[in-house]
Amino acid sequence: MTSFAELTSPQVADLLAGPRTPVLLLPVGAVEPHGPHAPLGTDELISAGMCARAAERLATDPGLRVLVLPALNYGVTHMSAGFSGAVSIGADTLRCLVLDVCRSLKDSGLHRIVVVNNHFEPAHVTALRSAVAEAEVAHLDLLRRANVARLTAEFRSGSCHAGQYETSLVLADRPELVDRDVMRELPAVHVDMPALMSASGGRADFAGLGMDRAYCGSPASASAAEGESTFDTLTDLLVELIREVGRG
Ligand SMILES: [Zn+2]
Repeated sequence: MTSFAELTSPQVADLLAGPRTPVLLLPVGAVEPHGPHAPLGTDELISAGMCARAAERLATDPGLRVLVLPALNYGVTHMSAGFSGAVSIGADTLRCLVLDVCRSLKDSGLHRIVVVNNHFEPAHVTALRSAVAEAEVAHLDLLRRANVARLTAEFRSGSCHAGQYETSLVLADRPELVDRDVMRELPAVHVDMPALMSASGGRADFAGLGMDRAYCGSPASASAAEGESTFDTLTDLLVELIREVGRG
């Protein structure tokens, strides 16, 4: 069993007394438009998918007990305002929520926590970085250069919202959630999101960036095979960090 919320209270107490060091994973996502073809919950699906794989890979590890916390599925998504289905919370709400959850776990003796996020709106990422620094927990920050370098060409290009990279990951886990007829007809849209967002001082939104259908990149090129391969890499990155956190 790798789901924290499926344990009983005495089972959690046993974790603390057991021989295996508990490491808890906190998946973070958003409810955000992902083009006309991919689900609103794409980012959470990716975070939860890589956490489940990492927990599975370490299921028989003699020194570690990896458990996945209930996901935080709301994020800061101001950039997608105006598109149906966008549900945003404030940056400070997110920061406080992550901080409170981590502090509460730490107060009960569960100190080793890894935050796993796949929603990259700058205000969201800034709030998370601030929360994990304050809570003194680990963060698999996929925007760090060393991590970016191990991901796909589209991810490295920065033109990757609901494009080939993310759509492939959804196809790997929940293909029925992708409207593949629509996906195949979508032209590639190149938007250098990081450059344009910093040029606008963080005030950019999808429409202003030229993403008039709430995606950029090349969704038509997505495949389940690429998604499986990317999930493998994401899981490698997460397992490496879990091992580091486990060593303390
Ligand atoms: Zn996304």
